Amino acid sequence: MAEKIVIIGSGPAGWTAAIYAARANLKPVVYEGEPSNIMVPGGQLMYTTEVENYPGFPSGVRGTEMMDLFRQQSLRFETQIFTEDITSVDFSSHPFKLKSSEGNEIESLSVIIATGAMANWLNLPNEQRLAHSGGGVSACAVCDGALPAYRDKVLVVVGGGDSAVEEAIYLTKFASKVVIVHRRAELRASPIMQERAKSEPKIEFKWNTVITDVLGDKVITGIRIQDTISKEESDLECGGLFIAIGHTPNTSFLGGSIELDEEGFIGTRQSWRTATSVVGVFAAGDVMDPYYKQAITAAGTGCMAALEAERWLAHKGLT
Ligand code: NAP
Repeated sequence: MAEKIVIIGSGPAGWTAAIYAARANLKPVVYEGEPSNIMVPGGQLMYTTEVENYPGFPSGVRGTEMMDLFRQQSLRFETQIFTEDITSVDFSSHPFKLKSSEGNEIESLSVIIATGAMANWLNLPNEQRLAHSGGGVSACAVCDGALPAYRDKVLVVVGGGDSAVEEAIYLTKFASKVVIVHRRAELRASPIMQERAKSEPKIEFKWNTVITDVLGDKVITGIRIQDTISKEESDLECGGLFIAIGHTPNTSFLGGSIELDEEGFIGTRQSWRTATSVVGVFAAGDVMDPYYKQAITAAGTGCMAALEAERWLAHKGLT
């Protein structure tokens, strides 16, 4: 028998969708994903240290603990969880057909895609080690920048897009100095953001520069950089490194079955709606949001997707 609703993904969007769908008696089935070396159930928050900007946690909460609490809350109602990936989908007929990494075939009347996006990393071994241990390397300045560990330090942001510039400006509130390291001599960011960054006295630029290593044992002490023109290497002392080189949405398993924007994010049909190009399939969280990318906005769109799916199922007489 077909499920009423399958939710793919287990970040704030997926769990919030599950809580709402479960309380609407839809008996949601969540595919929370399999742990791998690039992603674990719970998504990007599992790589975040302290979350201080999610309302309801006045003293902050660890990202891992927060995702565990979300998961527990979904289990309190009737949510069924599978620790498997959905590896392919067939949305060409209804009920929709999904295949899991264990080889199971699932049929569902509606689907919420909440598979998130992965921050792009430089993929340097010491960058990954210090990011996972909370040692001063992060892919989200808004999430981590206000932590005491970064106060009054020289902070480095790598990237030349709007995110890098925005994060650098944000970090000037806490840092003694912010250095933007960019691989070219020209920013990709919008002119207004460029202007703001260039007129901010605390921001310096290292042009035509790539990072070749991250230094420090338990916490970051600096980065090794290389001038792309002279090929000269040098070390730059810093107390934090923020990677802002874009995000990759987790949509490859969809195999072209749904409309994506040019960056691979799921396009929704209307603003303030989560319905996708396939009627009965909804999207929530970072997989459909290249702009805000926050836990709270992901949770918000998870709620929206569940309500929209519930209303659609009711409208079709499928509940
Ligand atoms: P982005 O525009 O794709 O910029 C990524 C930056 O990272 C580029 O400057 C790129 O360099 C650099 N980069 C990529 N791979 C790299 C690598 N391996 N090593 C070193 N540098 C690397 O990404 P984004 O800044 O996250 O922005 C994404 C979208 O969101 C954009 O459309 C942006 O306008 C939007 N956004 C808007 C705002 C705002 O309006 N306030 C804020 C944030 C984001 P190159 O330039 O050399 O390619």
